[in-house]
Amino acid sequence: MNAPEKSSHTPMMQQYLRIKAEHNDKLLFYRMGDFYELFHDDAVRAAKLLDITLTQRGASNGSPIKMAGVPYHAAEQYLARLVKMGESVAICEQIGDPATSKGPVERKVVRIVTPGTVTDSALLEEKRDNLLLALHQRSGKLGLAWLNLASGQFFVCETATDNLAAELERLQPSEILHAEDAALQASIHAAFKTLPVWHFDLETARRGLCQQFATIDLAGFGCDDYTVGLEAAGALLGYAKLTQGQSISHIRSVQVYSADRYVRMDAATRRNLEITQTLRGEPAPTLLSLLDTCATNMGSRLLANWLHHPLRDRNVLGARLEAVEQLLLPSPSGRGAGGEGRNGEVHTESSLTPALSQGARELYPQVHDQLKPSVDVERITARIALRSARPRDLSGLRDTLLTLPQLHAALARCDAALIQQLADALVADHTLVELLQKTIKPEPSSVLREGSVIADGFDPELDELRGIQTNCGDFLMELELRERARTGIDKLKVEYNRVHGFYIEVSFANADKVPDDYRRRQTLKNVERYITPELKAFEDKALSANDRALAREKFLYEQLLDQLAPFIPQLQRIAAAIAELDVLATFAERAATLNFSAPQFADDAQINIVKGRHPVVEAQVDQFTPNDTTLNDARRTLLITGPNMGGKSTYMRQVAIIALLAHVGCFVPAQEAVLGEIDQIFTRIGASDDLASGRSTFMVEMTEAANILHNATDKSLVLVDEIGRGTSTFDGLALAYAIARHLLELNRSYTLFATHYFELTRLAEEFKQLANVHLAAIEHQHSIVFLHSVNEGAASQSYGLQVAALAGVPNSVIRSAKKQLVKLEQNSAAQNPQGDLFTAAPEAPEPEEHPLLSALRDLQPDEMSPKEALERIYQLKKMV
Ligand code: ADP
Repeated sequence: MNAPEKSSHTPMMQQYLRIKAEHNDKLLFYRMGDFYELFHDDAVRAAKLLDITLTQRGASNGSPIKMAGVPYHAAEQYLARLVKMGESVAICEQIGDPATSKGPVERKVVRIVTPGTVTDSALLEEKRDNLLLALHQRSGKLGLAWLNLASGQFFVCETATDNLAAELERLQPSEILHAEDAALQASIHAAFKTLPVWHFDLETARRGLCQQFATIDLAGFGCDDYTVGLEAAGALLGYAKLTQGQSISHIRSVQVYSADRYVRMDAATRRNLEITQTLRGEPAPTLLSLLDTCATNMGSRLLANWLHHPLRDRNVLGARLEAVEQLLLPSPSGRGAGGEGRNGEVHTESSLTPALSQGARELYPQVHDQLKPSVDVERITARIALRSARPRDLSGLRDTLLTLPQLHAALARCDAALIQQLADALVADHTLVELLQKTIKPEPSSVLREGSVIADGFDPELDELRGIQTNCGDFLMELELRERARTGIDKLKVEYNRVHGFYIEVSFANADKVPDDYRRRQTLKNVERYITPELKAFEDKALSANDRALAREKFLYEQLLDQLAPFIPQLQRIAAAIAELDVLATFAERAATLNFSAPQFADDAQINIVKGRHPVVEAQVDQFTPNDTTLNDARRTLLITGPNMGGKSTYMRQVAIIALLAHVGCFVPAQEAVLGEIDQIFTRIGASDDLASGRSTFMVEMTEAANILHNATDKSLVLVDEIGRGTSTFDGLALAYAIARHLLELNRSYTLFATHYFELTRLAEEFKQLANVHLAAIEHQHSIVFLHSVNEGAASQSYGLQVAALAGVPNSVIRSAKKQLVKLEQNSAAQNPQGDLFTAAPEAPEPEEHPLLSALRDLQPDEMSPKEALERIYQLKKMV
C-alpha cells in the first residue's frame, strides 16, 4: 500500500495503518459501527472482486481516503466469495466501548479467514473436505502435512519430490503453505502462501507439535524421526492457530500417511478416471456423482475421500464388503440367504436383488432414513472446539444425538463385525445429551445476540430477567387503558421501537388534550410521541433487564461451550461412525439399484471380470453392452483395436473402475469380478496440451509414459490409449511398439493397450502373453453400427472413413480419401510382399474419375441460391 507518512493522519487512520501493517498480505475488514470498511488499495481490490461501490471520503494526510464497505450482518456472504477466490481476510473488531473511549475505539484482529482454514458453515462447501496443506522440500525429499480444520484430521508424510503433482491431485487442497525459498511448479490451482523460512524450523516444529498433543515426543505418532514432514507440520499448525486467534483443541493427533497402504494412482490417472471431477473439471457425471446418494454430508465427504484412497489391506476391504452384504439382506428371517462372510466364497446374485425384499425389508434403507436428518456432527464439533458453534448447531447436535439409540437398536440385527463396531461408536454419553437438552431451548434463535437461546428453567437469574420482559406487555396494556381513561383520548397508544424506546403516541388532533406531565419525544407527520416519568422509569428497568438477560445468555453459552469441550473426542468418534455407516449403506443402495455385485480377491495374479460395465457411461446410454476381461500370468496384455467410437476407452476404463471400486470396499458393476493383488493403477489416456506448464500433447504423453515404464510392476494395472499419435506415423508406431513390449516383458503389468496401429497386432505372434481383442462393428448400408462388444482377435479394419462420414465430413472428401487409401495400401503391399495383416487383400482400384465429374456429382441444385449457382458454374468452367 502506498501509505503516506503516518504522522499527519487522523488518529483513526493511524490505528488502521498500524493494524494493516501487520496484515499486509490480506484484506482488512475494519469494523466501524454496522459496517466492515476497507481502505486504500484494499478498497480498490475489494470493490473489483465483490462488485461493491468504491467511494472517497474526507482526507487523511492531505489525500482523500478510498473506501468500500460491507454491512456486518451480511459479511459472511462476502467472505464466502472472497475465500472462493483464494483471498484471505483479517477481521478487525471494535473491542473497546465507544461510549467511554477517548479517540478511536480500541480495535483488534480477532479472526483471520483464509481458504484453507475456514470452518463456518456459510463458508464451506457441504460435500467437500476443505484442506490446508503445507509442504517443504529439502535435499530431494518432500515433506507434506495437511489439515482438515473442520474435522480435526491432521496428516504428515515424507515422500520423493517427484510425487508432488500426484499428491496435490489426490488432496486438492484449498490453500498451500510453503517456504518463501521453495521453487515450485506454477500450475497448481490453489491459494499459495509463502511463509518465511524460519516457520519451517525443525526444533520449533517438534516443540509446537508436542505442546499441541501434550506429549514429550512424537514417537507415539510414528513420526519422531521425520524431518521435512515435521517442518511442514509445524509451519502448518502455527499458521492454523494464528488464523483462529486461539488454541485448536480438537486436533489431538497427527497421523502418518503411508502411501503403501493404498492402491497408488498418479495425477493423470485420478483425472482420467473422472473420479470426483470430469476431465472438464465439472462435478458430474463422475464416479462420485453416480455413487453419492449419501444421507449426510459427512457421508458424501468420506465417500469422496475413499474413492481417492483405494486400500490394499484385504482385511479392511473384506470387513466393508461384509457390511455392505449384510445391509443388503432382508430382515432376520431372510438372513443367511447370500452367504455368511466375505472370505472367499462366491456371492450369489440373488442376495443382491431388491426383489428378494418382498415382505421383508433390508437394513440399508432404514439406516439411510435414520441418518437423513442428522446434522453435520463433524463440523459442529470442530466449531465447538473453536468456540464458534452457533445456537442452532447445538440444538441440531442435540436432536441428532437423541436419534442415535434408535439407530443403534436397528443395527443390532446385523452381525457384520464392522457394523457392530460402528454401532458401538454411535453411543453418546447421557450427561452430554442431558447437558444439551437442559441448556438449549428446543428451537433457539439463530444468533446468540438475539437472545432466546438458553432454555427456560435452566438459570434462575436469566428466568427472572426474562420475567421482567414478559410482564412488560401486561404493564403496557394496563398503562394504555389507564392513560386513555385519564386523557379521554380513545386512540392513544403505548408502543416501543428499537431506536426511540417506549412512547405514548397521540394524533395531532388530540394534542391539546395531553396532560402536563407528558414530555414530547418525537414529532412525526400526523402524530406526536410522548414519554411520562412513569413510562421512563419502566423503560430503564425493561431495557436494562433485556441487556442483562442477553449478557447472561452469552455467559451461560460460553460456559456451555466449556462444558462441551471434554466431549469433543466422543463427538468426533460419533461423527466418524455416522459417516462410515452412511457410506456403507450407500454402497448397499447403489449395489441394489445399479445391479452391482461383490468382488472377490484372489491370491494368484489375475483380473477376471464377467460382464463388466462402465457405471457412469451405463447411466448415460440406453443400453450398455457388458464385456468380459481376462488377464493373468499367461495373458498379461490385451491389445485392443476397433473403430473410433467403438468403445475402446470405455472398456479400458471400466476395468480400472471395477478394480478401484473393489479396493474401496464397494460392490462392482459386473456379474463377477475376481482380482489378484493390485498395487497401482496407471492410465495414459486422451491427448490434451498442458498449456499451463507449456508442454505439448506429445510431451505430456511421453512424460506420462515414462512415469508408467519406470514405476509399473507386475501387480499394476496399466491402461494405454492411443500412444504415439502426436508425432509422425513411423516415430509413433515405433514408440508404441517399444512401449507395449517394455510393459509386457519388463514391467509385466496387467496392460490394456488400445491402438490404431494395426501393425502392433502382430506382437501377438511374437509374445504369447499378449492377446488381441477388438471392439466389434458392422457395416450396414455404407454406414457403420457399433456393437460395443469385445471379441477375441484383431479388428479387421479401422472404419476410419465410415466414422468420418458419420461425423459429417463432406462426401467428396470421403471419396477422395477412399481413393488415397487404396493407393497407400497398394504401395504398402508392394513394399511388403508378405502383405500387411490388414491390407492383404486390397480391393481392386476404382478407375480414376475426373475431378469435374466428382464436383458435378456433389452439386445439389435444389439447395443453391441463383447467385451460388452462377458462382459454381464459373468454378466448373475453370476446372475444365
Ligand atoms: P473409442 O475409445 O473406441 O473411441 P469410446 O469408448 O469413447 O470409444 O466410446 C464411444 C461411445 O460409445 C461412448 O461414449 C458410449 O456412448 C458408447 N459406448 C462405449 N462402450 C459402450 C458399451 N459397452 N455399451 C454401450 N455403449 C457404449
